[in-house]
Amino acid sequence: MIYLDHAATTPVDPRVAAAMRAVLEDPLAFANPSSMHAAGRAAAARIETARAQVAALVGAPPDDLIFTSGATESDNLAILGVARGRADFGRHIVTARTEHKAVLDACKRLVKEGYVVTFLEPAVDGRIDPMNLRAALRPDTQLVSIMHANNETGVVQDVAALAAVCRAHEVFLHVDAAQSAGKIPLDVCAAGLDLVSLSAHKMYGPKGIGALYVAPRVRPWLVPLAFGGGQERGLRPGTLATHQIVGFGAAAAIAACELDQDADRVRTLVQRFRAALGSLADLRWNDHPTARLPGVVSLSIADVEGESLLAALPELAVSSGAACDASRGEPSYVLRAAGVPAELAQSTLRIAFGRGNTPADAERAAELITAAVARLRACYARRMTTGDWHSGAAGSQRSGTHVICQLRADHAGRVAQVHFAAYGCPAVMAALDLLEQRWPGLPLGGDGALPAALGTPVEWAQAVAAPVEKLGRFLVVEDAMRLATLSAVDAARGT
Ligand SMILES: *Cc1c(COP(=O)(O)O)cnc(C)c1O
Repeated sequence: MIYLDHAATTPVDPRVAAAMRAVLEDPLAFANPSSMHAAGRAAAARIETARAQVAALVGAPPDDLIFTSGATESDNLAILGVARGRADFGRHIVTARTEHKAVLDACKRLVKEGYVVTFLEPAVDGRIDPMNLRAALRPDTQLVSIMHANNETGVVQDVAALAAVCRAHEVFLHVDAAQSAGKIPLDVCAAGLDLVSLSAHKMYGPKGIGALYVAPRVRPWLVPLAFGGGQERGLRPGTLATHQIVGFGAAAAIAACELDQDADRVRTLVQRFRAALGSLADLRWNDHPTARLPGVVSLSIADVEGESLLAALPELAVSSGAACDASRGEPSYVLRAAGVPAELAQSTLRIAFGRGNTPADAERAAELITAAVARLRACYARRMTTGDWHSGAAGSQRSGTHVICQLRADHAGRVAQVHFAAYGCPAVMAALDLLEQRWPGLPLGGDGALPAALGTPVEWAQAVAAPVEKLGRFLVVEDAMRLATLSAVDAARGT
């Protein structure tokens, strides 16, 4: 398997694992870092070293960084914490439609609590125009939350420009930097950011640990989400996880040291990948030409269904650009906002190269994608054109299922041959294979009704173990079959 999903998570760097192992195996490092005895102080010292390492990566004073369980918690603490802490001054928050779920869902929670949230639309290049941000600010706005680099497209925002707008209006700016930290330069002080979320597992560190940078001017206004032993200035109480934090520190130190070299390497891989895909027609690249993460590309491919494309690439660990929305069957808003049509948005691949990838990986991935796309497109495009074929079509690419049923009848009024040309998910495609075998030999129904022996859409869905939400797609199949049957019956009557 070729792992090209480094925007979802990264493997733990062996040097990070070694640092964590050293903590776990040291007979004294287990002590509670809050304890006053020598062992506790030694654990606390390891934590402070790690804090300095993470802080150095993003240009923050170590004292302004608190450890959390990851960027999700950091986003929630920043947004809920400031919104609640500043509630007496106003209850308006500004964010973007293209933010990570951790930000969007925290904002939705605030709407339930009576806050008003403005969701900015990015421009077609994926970026938030500082002028649009300024126009969205109101006298009661307390917080703006805009991510640094987008997790689906890799598009990078000009956070310093956005911070300048916020500063001029005395509004705090929170930036989710989970995707960008360690990948591109970030200096939270120079950029004038107020709150910044970080995650270790996006930068070759362990899962379950992250940080929130809290500028001193924000600290008095941040209300914690949990209450307890007072650790992390009381903003994030709970016994600190020494080994996780040491791993995060090691990952940050390596990222800081190797940032340029890592970026150059993955940039070269992206170039190779793009060049190798050059022969594939009807591709759309969704990433920004310049303001982008070096290792991430997003491409939408016309005339192939997204789920089927992923299923046709078992050797590649990649994401559909719409991973978070896939379960809901909605095309990714991030891509829709960037002007990608719905039917294209749902056939999108996000390829994120990382430290372990080689040029051979980039070329092999392009080769596999080219072959899979050719296969799926050929199946969709195969139209039976000789005289006695009848066809019926139903659905649309936009809805995720487009089926063209083509059949030939014999002189006795039975179905002789069936072929489906289809754009659909793997479950629908499997059902079509089944029907191509079941249908020949059965009689054509006079009024377009399908013979009972063929089963029902519910049975087809069950036969291919499709979840019940997908039933609608099997009804599309039935519609196409009925229309083809009617066309064949009409032709038989006409002769
Ligand atoms: C991965 C990610 C998160 C969530 O981070 P966790 O540490 O897994 O909670 C939040 N925001 C963005 C942009 C991310 O890419």
